[in-house]
Parts: sequence; structure tokens; C-alpha cells
Amino acid sequence: MVLVYAESPRGQFKKNAYEAVTYGKKTADLLGTSCAAVVLGTSVQQAGTLGNYGASKVVQVNDARLDTFDSQNYAAAIAETARAVGASVIVLTHSSTGKSIAGRLSVRLEAGLASGVNALPVVQGSALHVNKTVFSGKAIAEYALSSPIKIISLIGNAVRPEETGSAATVENTTLSSAQGRIRIKEVKTQEGRVPLPEAELVVSAGRGMKDPANWGIVEELAEVLGATTACSRPVADSHWRPHHEHVGQTGVAIRPNLYIALGISGAIQHLAGVNNSKVIVVVNKDPEAPFFKAADYGVEGDLFEVVPRLTEAVRKFKAAQ
Ligand SMILES: Cc1cc2nc3c(=O)[nH]c(=O)nc-3n(C[C@H](O)[C@H](O)[C@H](O)COP(=O)(O)OP(=O)(O)OC[C@H]3O[C@@H](n4cnc5c(N)ncnc54)[C@H](O)[C@@H]3O)c2cc1C
Repeated sequence: MVLVYAESPRGQFKKNAYEAVTYGKKTADLLGTSCAAVVLGTSVQQAGTLGNYGASKVVQVNDARLDTFDSQNYAAAIAETARAVGASVIVLTHSSTGKSIAGRLSVRLEAGLASGVNALPVVQGSALHVNKTVFSGKAIAEYALSSPIKIISLIGNAVRPEETGSAATVENTTLSSAQGRIRIKEVKTQEGRVPLPEAELVVSAGRGMKDPANWGIVEELAEVLGATTACSRPVADSHWRPHHEHVGQTGVAIRPNLYIALGISGAIQHLAGVNNSKVIVVVNKDPEAPFFKAADYGVEGDLFEVVPRLTEAVRKFKAAQ
């Protein structure tokens, strides 16, 4: 059995949950077994919809102690469910939640763990071979998981969610071994744009913007595209933009469908966090800027002229739809 932990922040599934279930179902098919999903907490809405993506059943650990994130309780609940369903493979999302659970779960179940996996496994005997990028995306490493229980954390945007089945039955359980020693006093959530790690469209800007007061044109382009904004490290270090927008080797690593880089040189440390984007568009006035080598589309020009025209063109295109 392949067990997928489907994240449900504030009771709702996001794209990463559907990606993980799709991946779990395809892995189960390769192994000739079935795929189940586990969801945590009392506020999860419509857990059965995970069946549409290939889960043959969904286990909901209906326990209020799981309504707020606590890596110890979450790892305990997933481990209990894994034992109950007899899981041999567990799929997590390589999100901040998944990353903080994976190690604990691996120790609890004495399971081999491959984190940040970017493609379906290859089955070789009783081992699963999986790939992940290493050295800031410069190489691909192949790992063989040979332990009886195997844990894979799946990087975002690596598989496309596929609706293949129909709603699954939901089995309710509770958590029998609460381990958490953390007491949550308050939860503050950030409203507005899609968080960077989940964003499919990203408009990012660098030192070429010259001044934080100039960011209006970046915001406007992001707004018209429905994109999330990002920035290079010096921009965040200078407090021109908040640190959570900093992408790269020392910032957030992203894999959006579209990454638009405005006035960013394309230093290797920046590319390390964005070079897995599906399509990269670069606007830079320096034809020698290294970012052009990584770009799918490049505009050589002054961003203060190009960006407003790009925004206008997108606006017109959307109005004509
Ligand atoms: C250990 C280490 C870790 C690092 N980690 C990161 C990281 O995670 N992320 C990161 O981003 N950086 C990181 N850096 C910094 C990185 O090396 C670069 O210094 C940084 O990415 C440069 O930022 P930038 O491209 O915004 O600025 P610059 O290098 O100053 O580039 C600005 C660009 O804007 C262009 N430009 C200027 N004016 C215009 C205009 N009017 N129109 C169009 N283009 C214009 C210029 O031609 C230039 O290419 C790291 C460095 C180190 C040493």
C-alpha cells in the first residue's frame, strides 16, 4: 500500500495535495498495489475528493490536537496510519510542513527517506530508485531506497495533478499517541497572493529597479498576471522588499510555470533557486547579463520602458479573451 499525506492548511486541499496523491497513485500502479491518503484534523473539508486523484480510501485522523500544525503530533498520526494500513511507501510534499515531518517519520518507522524527489520512482526488485537535483540544481542524484518502508517527499510542480477516479470513502480515526509538547498560542496567516513556493507565475525584480519606490510597475505586472512577487537577495538585504520574497540558493527555491526576472543579473546563487522554472523570461539592459543564457525568452532593454508595455499588452490580451 502507498500512503499519501495530503496537506490541508485551514481545512482545504491545495494543488500540492493533488500532486502528491497523483504521484502516490502512479507509484502504487508501478508496485501493483493501491493508494490511500491520510488527512489530519477535524476541519478538513471533503476529504473524499482525494479519490478523484487516485486514492482508493482516505483516512481522516479526526482529532482536534491536529487542527494546528505540530510536527511531533503530525508524525505520530501519519506513523500510526501507516502501520494501520500496512504502508510500504509514504509520500509527503516537500513543503515546510513535509520537511519538518519527514525526518521524524523516518525515525519512527525506521524508513529510508528521499527528500525533494522530482520524478516517479523506478522499481528494481524490492528497491525504489528515485531522482532529485543536488548542488543547487547542477546535477541529478539517483537514490535507491531499500528499507521495508520507504518515504518520499515530492517537490512541488514535479507532476501534474490528474483526475482519474471518483470520490473515495472516508474512514475516521483518532490519534492514540499524542506526542506534542508544543502549545500553540496564536496562529497568524498571511492573506493575499499565493505563497511563493506554490506560485505558478512569479514576477521577480533585482537591483536594476534602482529604488524601492519604483516597485509599483512590478506590482502592477504581477497583479495583471495574477502572479506572486519575488526578488534577488541584495534587494531583500537592503530592505527594499521583505525577506520572504528572496529567491535563490540562500532564499526560497521555486519551480513556477513562468518566472519573469526584471533587472536581475542572473548570478549563479540566484539561478540556483529559479532554474527549475518551466519558462524563464528575462528583461535586462545589459546584453551580456548571465541570466540571458538561462532564459527561454529575453528582452534586451530598459525595464522602466519594457515593463509598463508588457503590463499593457497582458491587460489588452486578457480583455480580449
Ligand atoms: C553565498 C552567497 C549566497 C547568495 N545567495 C543568493 C540568493 O539566494 N539569491 C540571490 O538573488 N542572490 C544571492 N547571492 C548574491 C548573488 O551573488 C548576486 O550578487 C545577486 O543575485 C545580484 O542581485 P541582482 O541581480 O539583483 O543585482 P546586480 O548584480 O546588481 O544586477 C542588476 C542587474 O540589473 C540590470 N539593470 C540595471 N538597470 C536596468 C534597467 N533599467 N533595465 C533593465 N535591467 C537593468 C543590470 O544590467 C544587472 O544585470 C548570494 C551570494 C553569495 C556569495
